[in-house]
Amino acid sequence: MRLAKRLAHVKPSPTLAITAKAKAMKAQGIDVIGFGAGEPDFDTPSHIKEAAKKALDEGFTKYAPVPGTDDLREVIAKKLREENNLPYDKENVIVSCGAKHSIYNIAQALFDEGDEVIIPSPYWVSYPPIVYLAGATPVIIDTDESTDFKITPDQLRSAITERTKALILNSPSNPTGTAYTEEELRAIAEVVVEKDIYVISDEIYEKIVYDGFRHVSIGALGDEIFRRTIVVNGVSKTYSMTGWRIGYAAGPVELVKAMTTIQSQSTSNPTSFCLKASVAAIEGPQDVVDEMVKEFDRRRRYIVDRLNSLPGVSCVLPKGAFYVFPNFSGVYGKSYNGRKIESSTDLADYLLDEVRVALVPGIGFGNDNCARLSYATSMENIEKGLDRIEEALKKLS
Ligand SMILES: *Cc1c(COP(=O)(O)O)cnc(C)c1O
Repeated sequence: MRLAKRLAHVKPSPTLAITAKAKAMKAQGIDVIGFGAGEPDFDTPSHIKEAAKKALDEGFTKYAPVPGTDDLREVIAKKLREENNLPYDKENVIVSCGAKHSIYNIAQALFDEGDEVIIPSPYWVSYPPIVYLAGATPVIIDTDESTDFKITPDQLRSAITERTKALILNSPSNPTGTAYTEEELRAIAEVVVEKDIYVISDEIYEKIVYDGFRHVSIGALGDEIFRRTIVVNGVSKTYSMTGWRIGYAAGPVELVKAMTTIQSQSTSNPTSFCLKASVAAIEGPQDVVDEMVKEFDRRRRYIVDRLNSLPGVSCVLPKGAFYVFPNFSGVYGKSYNGRKIESSTDLADYLLDEVRVALVPGIGFGNDNCARLSYATSMENIEKGLDRIEEALKKLS
């Protein structure tokens, strides 16, 4: 069958693939430790579930407004104003079927054939395919541990050409957990304004931060940058609601209208009763988030210490999200039983086959020296998994 050419650059998400493989092995009774999960391992808080049940009981089960209900858009705009210092109104907000869908719609509404979109690497796996599907071209800026996986303003300036339309910024980051300080964002914002491009700011992990880190939204750093910012966020990660599929974007009204048109001709409204549940999530008690972050923090410290104690492995201490992105290149070139490790894929395959540990090869995030481990899994699993990784790496020579 001859499929559309636009699929040339689009492969299935490697994070979902490794999670599926580990799940399948588990279903066969194999004792796999999975570090692949891209979602919190906690249940959705009960007051959010109750709001969904109430919506169902009240018959809120029909088509809803395409960009989301007025009450939810209003609640989101209020949140963005009060928590993020972004002067948005309801008209600046569109709710979609997950933040991934928000980014997809932004790309469809904003990018043309021939446009370039700057993506710092390591990047979230879906950014390049989403850019390709809009006919535009991703331009990757490589970063490494020397800058905590953050781009510098100079790197950004040199990557911008006449065709550059936007920068996609993700802070705190998936997969590295790195997060930009206000000062660093100011320097990035200056370049964005000077070169007159847009910044798509994916802030889905804003509330999952550690060591007193204060998340700042780049759009809050002045009128000029505000006008060029499209902020993306959602309830998936903060409220353990990944399966509910509710995310949102906020930006210039003209763009939000265009995205609404696209949504009206594709998915229509995001699931009705999930909209009601999301109002409860954003407006309701936030201590559930603090508790989750406290537990993530405990795991983060443990996993980073363990990884850094392994010979040939080094790991930056993340400031946010629930991933670590350790560098394994120190073991590259070594072998066991005639099997040589030369890439992040070799490493992931070796760990899965040899000690039944699933992690995601860094190559999917644009960095072949590293691999991503999610610590959205129990402390017991983390301990066991690290023991196994240690054992597998000891066998290499
Ligand atoms: C999980 C994730 C998303 C998508 O979240 P959904 O709301 O579940 O679609 C977007 N960006 C990043 C960086 C993520 O890790």
